[in-house]
Amino acid sequence: PPSKLPNIGTTIFSVMSKMAADHQAINLSQGFPDYNGPKDLLDRVGYHTEQGANQYPPMTGVPVLREAIVDKVSRHYGRTVSAEDEITITSGGTEALFDAITCVVSPGDEVIIFDPAFDSYVPAVQLNGGVPVHIQLQAPHFGIDWDVVKAAITPKTRLMILNSPHNPTGSVFSQADIDALCDLVKGTDILLISDDVYEHIVFDGQQHLSFVKYDELFQRSFVISSFGKTYHATGWKVAYCIAPPALTAEFRKVHQFVTFTTPPALQLAIADYMRQAPEHCDELAGFYQAKRDLFNNVMQDSRFSFIPSGGTYFQLMDYRAIQPDMSDTEFCEWLVNEKGVAAIPVSVFCKQPPDATLVRFCFAKNDETLLAATEILKGL
Ligand code: GLN
Repeated sequence: PPSKLPNIGTTIFSVMSKMAADHQAINLSQGFPDYNGPKDLLDRVGYHTEQGANQYPPMTGVPVLREAIVDKVSRHYGRTVSAEDEITITSGGTEALFDAITCVVSPGDEVIIFDPAFDSYVPAVQLNGGVPVHIQLQAPHFGIDWDVVKAAITPKTRLMILNSPHNPTGSVFSQADIDALCDLVKGTDILLISDDVYEHIVFDGQQHLSFVKYDELFQRSFVISSFGKTYHATGWKVAYCIAPPALTAEFRKVHQFVTFTTPPALQLAIADYMRQAPEHCDELAGFYQAKRDLFNNVMQDSRFSFIPSGGTYFQLMDYRAIQPDMSDTEFCEWLVNEKGVAAIPVSVFCKQPPDATLVRFCFAKNDETLLAATEILKGL
């Protein structure tokens, strides 16, 4: 049968993690920690399982978790969202992205996507008959040129997908970005998805500027975040979407037929831990900044060049001085096959492969793992 996604192969994250395993390489490719979340959090999963939290929970998510999110959002961003009408728990950020895209994109609708972009955005748009409109972020800072965005808007523009802190580049929105976006969407009916899954991983004293803080943005937004990043549990696939009631109602129509629910013991355990340790979110940036700095300090002595990541647990590195003639994909294959370190080529996140020699390393790893990797990388 004809493929609905003729240009899409297996996601790079599965491909690279498999190559890393096959070659027993140090895996700095797919973004996940090689350590557990807090023991108290893990213990609550067993507790709730034994207490009987093993059947379908409410479709919108367990009430105590939605309440805990209300408190967290209010503490961090100063808006009291409604647990009942504005929050939906999903099975991962990728599900939330798919639900939000699916509930608003109809055939022919244009969706503005900034390249490099997380790899699920484009296929989700295409499966709904939408037309991705790609805007290239420019190295080395990967900020948005808002005049370019303005020029890309047409009467068919339905949705814009934004992501700060940004995977894979580590760029972070400034107040000027927020102001420009407010100006741009004013008087239009363009909707926004804000992929905030790295919201608590922002470095060097910067602040995450969530759209929930800005009413003119929030009223047209799906704000998506994930507990996997925050609590070192990416495989749990527990995330959420915050959106105003009318958008949430549409979002839930899709969510109920995609996954319907998310394992209740995981939701309850996260709710307990959010109550027990609200400071966890505040401490996460420092935790990851130390890892970024450990990695980058050694990499300073390598032939890679880089600008320190501003957020997320990813660091881009330019390998031009090491293998100027290799594409980024060739470089990553060489690196994993011959040198035993796995990374992600940035071109897989772009429609037009960029004229750049950039790869992404994940530094959400134990210090020993990072040091073992840098030992190899600085010898190249
Ligand atoms: N978000 C993670 C990354 O960018 C992994 C996502 C995935 O494996 N689907 O590496």
